[in-house]
Amino acid sequence: MNIIVCVKLIPDPEAPPASFKIDTAANKVIPAAGVSLVISPFDEQAVEAALRLKDVNGGKVTVISLGMGLPRDVVKKPLAMGADELIILEDPAFEGGDSWSTAYALAMAIKKIGEFDVVLCGRQAGDWDAGQVGSGIAEFLGIPGITIAKKIEVNNGTAVVERVLSDGYEVIEAVLPALITVSNELGEPRFAALKGIMAAAKKQPVIWKPADIGVEPSKLGAAGRATKLVKLFQPVREGKCEIIEGENPAEAAEKLALRLREAKVI
Ligand SMILES: Cc1cc2nc3c(=O)[nH]c(=O)nc-3n(C[C@H](O)[C@H](O)[C@H](O)COP(=O)(O)OP(=O)(O)OC[C@H]3O[C@@H](n4cnc5c(N)ncnc54)[C@H](O)[C@@H]3O)c2cc1C
Repeated sequence: MNIIVCVKLIPDPEAPPASFKIDTAANKVIPAAGVSLVISPFDEQAVEAALRLKDVNGGKVTVISLGMGLPRDVVKKPLAMGADELIILEDPAFEGGDSWSTAYALAMAIKKIGEFDVVLCGRQAGDWDAGQVGSGIAEFLGIPGITIAKKIEVNNGTAVVERVLSDGYEVIEAVLPALITVSNELGEPRFAALKGIMAAAKKQPVIWKPADIGVEPSKLGAAGRATKLVKLFQPVREGKCEIIEGENPAEAAEKLALRLREAKVI
Protein backbone atom coordinates (compact mmCIF):
# COMPACT_ATOMS: atom_id res chain seq x y z
CA MET A 1 0.00 0.00 0.00
CA ASN A 2 1.41 3.41 -0.98
CA ILE A 3 0.59 6.20 1.42
CA ILE A 4 1.57 9.84 0.87
CA VAL A 5 1.51 12.42 3.69
CA CYS A 6 1.70 16.19 3.15
CA VAL A 7 3.55 17.84 6.01
CA LYS A 8 3.94 21.59 6.54
CA LEU A 9 6.49 23.25 8.81
CA ILE A 10 5.13 26.21 10.78
CA PRO A 11 6.50 28.62 13.42
CA ASP A 12 6.21 26.96 16.84
CA PRO A 13 2.62 27.62 18.03
CA GLU A 14 3.91 27.58 21.63
CA ALA A 15 5.95 30.76 20.96
CA PRO A 16 4.84 33.78 23.06
CA PRO A 17 2.13 35.85 21.28
CA ALA A 18 4.32 38.98 21.67
CA SER A 19 6.79 37.44 19.19
CA PHE A 20 4.15 37.62 16.43
CA LYS A 21 4.75 40.71 14.27
CA ILE A 22 3.36 41.83 10.94
CA ASP A 23 4.87 43.97 8.20
CA THR A 24 1.61 45.77 7.33
CA ALA A 25 3.12 47.50 4.28
CA ALA A 26 4.17 44.20 2.70
CA ASN A 27 1.20 42.23 4.13
CA LYS A 28 3.61 39.67 5.52
CA VAL A 29 4.42 38.06 8.82
CA ILE A 30 7.90 38.95 10.05
CA PRO A 31 9.67 35.70 11.00
CA ALA A 32 10.39 36.06 14.72
CA ALA A 33 13.97 35.64 15.86
CA GLY A 34 14.41 32.63 18.10
CA VAL A 35 11.08 30.99 17.15
CA SER A 36 11.85 27.63 15.61
CA LEU A 37 9.89 25.80 12.95
CA VAL A 38 8.01 22.65 13.95
CA ILE A 39 5.83 20.17 12.11
CA SER A 40 2.25 21.45 12.11
CA PRO A 41 0.61 19.41 14.90
CA PHE A 42 -2.26 18.04 12.74
CA ASP A 43 0.34 16.92 10.19
CA GLU A 44 2.13 14.88 12.86
CA GLN A 45 -1.21 13.18 13.41
CA ALA A 46 -1.46 12.58 9.65
CA VAL A 47 1.97 10.90 9.79
CA GLU A 48 0.73 8.78 12.70
CA ALA A 49 -2.38 7.79 10.67
CA ALA A 50 -0.11 6.78 7.77
CA LEU A 51 2.10 4.68 10.03
CA ARG A 52 -0.93 2.95 11.59
CA LEU A 53 -2.15 2.05 8.08
CA LYS A 54 1.32 0.75 7.24
CA ASP A 55 1.45 -1.25 10.52
CA VAL A 56 -1.75 -3.08 9.50
CA ASN A 57 -1.47 -3.27 5.72
CA GLY A 58 2.27 -2.99 5.04
CA GLY A 59 3.58 -0.76 2.26
CA LYS A 60 5.43 2.52 1.97
CA VAL A 61 4.93 5.97 3.51
CA THR A 62 6.21 8.94 1.49
CA VAL A 63 6.22 12.41 3.03
CA ILE A 64 6.07 15.59 0.93
CA SER A 65 6.83 19.04 2.29
CA LEU A 66 6.81 22.32 0.37
CA GLY A 67 9.02 25.12 1.63
CA MET A 68 12.36 26.89 1.27
CA GLY A 69 15.29 26.12 3.55
CA LEU A 70 13.32 23.78 5.81
CA PRO A 71 15.57 22.74 8.73
CA ARG A 72 16.51 19.15 7.97
CA ASP A 73 16.42 17.96 11.58
CA VAL A 74 12.76 19.10 11.82
CA VAL A 75 11.48 18.05 8.40
CA LYS A 76 13.06 14.59 8.83
CA LYS A 77 11.02 13.87 11.97
CA PRO A 78 8.43 11.75 10.05
CA LEU A 79 11.34 9.60 8.80
CA ALA A 80 12.46 9.13 12.41
CA MET A 81 8.88 8.14 13.32
CA GLY A 82 8.91 5.42 10.61
CA ALA A 83 8.14 7.00 7.21
CA ASP A 84 10.17 5.63 4.31
CA GLU A 85 10.88 8.59 2.04
CA LEU A 86 10.90 12.39 2.19
CA ILE A 87 10.40 14.64 -0.83
CA ILE A 88 10.88 18.40 -0.45
CA LEU A 89 9.51 20.86 -3.00
CA GLU A 90 12.21 23.49 -2.62
CA ASP A 91 12.60 26.35 -5.06
CA PRO A 92 11.94 30.11 -4.96
CA ALA A 93 9.13 29.48 -7.48
CA PHE A 94 7.14 27.59 -4.80
CA GLU A 95 7.27 30.56 -2.39
CA GLY A 96 4.47 33.01 -1.52
CA GLY A 97 1.66 30.72 -2.58
CA ASP A 98 -1.96 30.62 -1.46
CA SER A 99 -4.06 27.52 -0.78
CA TRP A 100 -4.64 27.11 -4.55
CA SER A 101 -1.03 27.16 -5.73
CA THR A 102 0.14 25.15 -2.70
CA ALA A 103 -2.47 22.45 -3.41
CA TYR A 104 -1.58 22.50 -7.12
CA ALA A 105 2.15 22.01 -6.49
CA LEU A 106 1.52 19.19 -4.00
CA ALA A 107 -0.99 17.50 -6.37
CA MET A 108 1.49 17.62 -9.26
CA ALA A 109 4.20 16.13 -7.04
CA ILE A 110 1.80 13.33 -6.02
CA LYS A 111 1.02 12.70 -9.72
CA LYS A 112 4.73 12.45 -10.36
CA ILE A 113 5.06 9.83 -7.58
CA GLY A 114 2.38 8.00 -9.55
CA GLU A 115 1.40 4.96 -7.50
CA PHE A 116 -0.64 5.90 -4.43
CA ASP A 117 -3.61 4.52 -2.51
CA VAL A 118 -4.12 7.10 0.24
CA VAL A 119 -3.03 10.75 0.51
CA LEU A 120 -3.14 12.20 4.02
CA CYS A 121 -3.06 15.84 5.13
CA GLY A 122 -3.65 17.61 8.43
CA ARG A 123 -7.19 18.98 8.88
CA GLN A 124 -5.65 22.47 8.73
CA ALA A 125 -2.21 24.02 9.00
CA GLY A 126 -1.51 25.24 12.52
CA ASP A 127 -0.43 28.73 11.35
CA TRP A 128 -3.06 29.99 8.88
CA ASP A 129 -5.79 27.45 9.58
CA ALA A 130 -7.18 27.64 6.03
CA GLY A 131 -8.07 23.95 5.95
CA GLN A 132 -8.25 24.11 2.15
CA VAL A 133 -5.11 22.49 0.78
CA GLY A 134 -6.25 18.88 1.38
CA SER A 135 -9.54 19.32 -0.46
CA GLY A 136 -7.71 21.24 -3.20
CA ILE A 137 -5.31 18.34 -3.75
CA ALA A 138 -8.25 15.89 -3.98
CA GLU A 139 -9.88 18.14 -6.59
CA PHE A 140 -6.70 18.48 -8.68
CA LEU A 141 -6.17 14.71 -8.57
CA GLY A 142 -9.85 13.97 -9.25
CA ILE A 143 -10.14 11.62 -6.26
CA PRO A 144 -12.57 11.46 -3.31
CA GLY A 145 -11.70 13.75 -0.38
CA ILE A 146 -12.78 13.11 3.21
CA THR A 147 -12.05 15.72 5.89
CA ILE A 148 -11.44 15.62 9.66
CA ALA A 149 -10.83 11.90 10.19
CA LYS A 150 -10.32 10.36 13.62
CA LYS A 151 -9.92 6.76 12.47
CA ILE A 152 -9.01 5.25 9.11
CA GLU A 153 -9.19 1.63 8.01
CA VAL A 154 -8.66 0.15 4.58
CA ASN A 155 -10.53 -2.93 3.37
CA ASN A 156 -10.48 -4.35 -0.17
CA GLY A 157 -9.67 -1.11 -1.96
CA THR A 158 -12.01 0.97 0.19
CA ALA A 159 -11.21 3.48 2.93
CA VAL A 160 -13.55 3.39 5.93
CA VAL A 161 -13.23 6.68 7.80
CA GLU A 162 -14.66 7.89 11.09
CA ARG A 163 -15.21 11.60 10.48
CA VAL A 164 -15.49 13.99 13.42
CA LEU A 165 -18.78 15.90 13.88
CA SER A 166 -19.51 18.54 16.53
CA ASP A 167 -21.42 16.00 18.66
CA GLY A 168 -20.03 12.63 17.59
CA TYR A 169 -18.81 11.10 14.36
CA GLU A 170 -20.03 9.64 11.08
CA VAL A 171 -18.59 6.73 9.12
CA ILE A 172 -17.72 7.39 5.46
CA GLU A 173 -16.58 4.90 2.84
CA ALA A 174 -14.63 5.91 -0.26
CA VAL A 175 -13.03 3.95 -3.06
CA LEU A 176 -9.24 4.26 -3.17
CA PRO A 177 -7.26 6.22 -4.12
CA ALA A 178 -8.63 8.86 -1.77
CA LEU A 179 -7.43 11.91 0.14
CA ILE A 180 -8.18 12.11 3.85
CA THR A 181 -7.47 14.99 6.24
CA VAL A 182 -6.66 13.98 9.80
CA SER A 183 -7.78 15.56 13.06
CA ASN A 184 -6.33 15.52 16.58
CA GLU A 185 -9.04 13.06 17.75
CA LEU A 186 -6.91 10.37 16.02
CA GLY A 187 -4.76 10.34 19.16
CA GLU A 188 -1.17 11.02 20.10
CA PRO A 189 1.49 10.59 17.42
CA ARG A 190 4.17 8.04 18.29
CA PHE A 191 7.58 9.09 19.58
CA ALA A 192 10.57 8.64 17.33
CA ALA A 193 12.71 5.83 18.76
CA LEU A 194 16.50 6.15 18.84
CA LYS A 195 16.83 3.58 16.04
CA GLY A 196 14.49 5.66 13.86
CA ILE A 197 16.33 8.89 14.64
CA MET A 198 19.65 7.32 13.66
CA ALA A 199 18.18 5.84 10.45
CA ALA A 200 16.60 9.22 9.55
CA ALA A 201 19.92 11.01 10.05
CA LYS A 202 21.43 8.84 7.30
CA LYS A 203 18.56 9.33 4.81
CA GLN A 204 18.72 12.25 2.39
CA PRO A 205 15.52 13.95 1.25
CA VAL A 206 14.72 14.01 -2.47
CA ILE A 207 14.56 17.62 -3.68
CA TRP A 208 12.15 18.46 -6.50
CA LYS A 209 12.10 21.68 -8.52
CA PRO A 210 9.20 22.85 -10.74
CA ALA A 211 10.70 21.04 -13.77
CA ASP A 212 10.79 17.78 -11.80
CA ILE A 213 7.01 17.87 -11.37
CA GLY A 214 6.49 19.13 -14.93
CA VAL A 215 4.95 22.48 -13.98
CA GLU A 216 5.61 25.98 -15.31
CA PRO A 217 6.82 28.29 -12.50
CA SER A 218 4.06 30.73 -13.52
CA LYS A 219 1.51 28.28 -12.03
CA LEU A 220 3.31 28.00 -8.70
CA GLY A 221 3.81 30.02 -5.54
CA ALA A 222 3.14 33.77 -5.68
CA ALA A 223 2.76 33.74 -9.49
CA GLY A 224 0.13 31.00 -9.37
CA ARG A 225 -2.05 32.49 -6.62
CA ALA A 226 -5.79 32.51 -7.25
CA THR A 227 -6.36 34.90 -4.35
CA LYS A 228 -4.94 38.26 -3.38
CA LEU A 229 -4.16 39.10 0.23
CA VAL A 230 -5.63 42.60 0.55
CA LYS A 231 -4.91 43.44 4.17
CA LEU A 232 -3.11 41.68 7.01
CA PHE A 233 -3.32 43.30 10.43
CA GLN A 234 -3.32 42.56 14.14
CA PRO A 235 -6.60 43.52 15.79
CA VAL A 236 -6.33 46.09 18.55
CA ARG A 237 -8.22 44.92 21.60
CA GLU A 238 -9.39 47.62 24.02
CA GLY A 239 -10.97 46.85 27.35
CA LYS A 240 -12.87 49.40 29.49
CA CYS A 241 -13.61 48.67 33.11
CA GLU A 242 -15.77 50.69 35.48
CA ILE A 243 -15.75 49.79 39.16
CA ILE A 244 -19.10 50.29 40.90
CA GLU A 245 -18.67 50.70 44.64
CA GLY A 246 -21.06 50.99 47.57
CA GLU A 247 -21.12 51.10 51.37
CA ASN A 248 -22.39 47.53 51.36
CA PRO A 249 -23.25 44.84 48.75
CA ALA A 250 -26.91 45.93 48.55
CA GLU A 251 -25.97 49.54 47.77
CA ALA A 252 -23.36 48.41 45.21
CA ALA A 253 -25.98 46.19 43.53
CA GLU A 254 -28.48 49.08 43.39
CA LYS A 255 -25.89 51.40 41.85
CA LEU A 256 -24.91 48.67 39.38
CA ALA A 257 -28.53 48.17 38.31
CA LEU A 258 -28.97 51.95 37.83
CA ARG A 259 -25.75 52.12 35.80
CA LEU A 260 -26.82 49.19 33.61
CA ARG A 261 -30.23 50.84 33.01
CA GLU A 262 -28.50 54.11 32.12
CA ALA A 263 -26.36 52.22 29.60
CA LYS A 264 -29.57 50.60 28.28
CA VAL A 265 -28.20 47.12 29.03
CA ILE A 266 -31.30 46.28 31.12
C1 LIG B 1 -4.40 35.86 5.66
C2 LIG B 1 -3.22 35.02 5.26
C3 LIG B 1 -1.96 35.58 5.25
C4 LIG B 1 -0.84 34.84 4.89
N1 LIG B 1 0.37 35.42 4.92
C5 LIG B 1 1.47 34.70 4.67
C6 LIG B 1 2.75 35.27 4.76
O1 LIG B 1 2.90 36.44 5.10
N2 LIG B 1 3.83 34.50 4.49
C7 LIG B 1 3.67 33.18 4.18
O2 LIG B 1 4.66 32.50 3.95
N3 LIG B 1 2.46 32.60 4.09
C8 LIG B 1 1.36 33.33 4.32
N4 LIG B 1 0.13 32.75 4.25
C9 LIG B 1 0.09 31.30 4.11
C10 LIG B 1 -0.05 30.70 2.75
O3 LIG B 1 -0.95 31.41 1.99
C11 LIG B 1 -0.48 29.28 3.06
O4 LIG B 1 0.67 28.54 3.29
C12 LIG B 1 -1.27 28.58 1.99
O5 LIG B 1 -2.44 29.30 1.76
C13 LIG B 1 -1.71 27.18 2.45
O6 LIG B 1 -2.77 27.33 3.35
P1 LIG B 1 -2.60 26.86 4.83
O7 LIG B 1 -1.19 26.96 5.23
O8 LIG B 1 -3.59 27.58 5.67
O9 LIG B 1 -2.94 25.33 4.68
P2 LIG B 1 -4.21 24.46 5.07
O10 LIG B 1 -5.16 24.43 3.95
O11 LIG B 1 -4.74 24.84 6.42
O12 LIG B 1 -3.39 23.11 5.18
C14 LIG B 1 -4.03 21.85 5.26
C15 LIG B 1 -3.01 20.78 5.08
O13 LIG B 1 -2.41 20.88 3.79
C16 LIG B 1 -1.05 20.44 3.85
N5 LIG B 1 -0.15 21.55 3.53
C17 LIG B 1 -0.40 22.89 3.53
N6 LIG B 1 0.70 23.57 3.19
C18 LIG B 1 1.67 22.65 2.98
C19 LIG B 1 3.05 22.71 2.63
N7 LIG B 1 3.67 23.87 2.44
N8 LIG B 1 3.74 21.55 2.48
C20 LIG B 1 3.15 20.35 2.68
N9 LIG B 1 1.85 20.23 3.03
C21 LIG B 1 1.13 21.36 3.18
C22 LIG B 1 -0.82 19.98 5.30
O14 LIG B 1 -1.11 18.61 5.40
C23 LIG B 1 -1.85 20.81 6.06
O15 LIG B 1 -2.20 20.25 7.31
C24 LIG B 1 -1.00 33.48 4.56
C25 LIG B 1 -2.27 32.91 4.57
C26 LIG B 1 -3.37 33.65 4.93
C27 LIG B 1 -4.73 33.01 4.95
